[in-house]
Amino acid sequence: MDCPKCRASMETVEFGTDIVVKRCTGCHGLFCSWQTLQRLREEWLSEAVLDQGSAAVGAKQNSMLDISCPDCSATMVAVRDPKQSLITLDSCPACDGVFLDAGELTNMKSATLMDHVRHLLSKLGK
Ligand SMILES: [Zn+2]
Ligand SMILES: [Zn+2]
Repeated sequence: MDCPKCRASMETVEFGTDIVVKRCTGCHGLFCSWQTLQRLREEWLSEAVLDQGSAAVGAKQNSMLDISCPDCSATMVAVRDPKQSLITLDSCPACDGVFLDAGELTNMKSATLMDHVRHLLSKLGK
């Protein structure tokens, strides 16, 4: 499997007992299914283990459009993350795969953490 953005090869990376994602050996983008992505959002420290690329590289790659899915080669579409509209992901309409540029999982998780904090503060009445 080759990275749809920088064409380097992608390696299989495991997290925990049953989460498997593909990570690019070049730009460190991540490829997994939406279902796996949902799991990664819930797993503590998944971003620290998996998302090791440079956010600057990821930000640059994020503007690449019309990339092909590394799994089934359908053209991927850019979608806004349903929960955090500032984050744009590349989603495959054919196989349910999703590509995250380096740094995006970290962004997602830190935004989620901020939401938790805000929620807690609002419960305390300020
Ligand atoms: Zn890459
Ligand atoms: Zn696909």
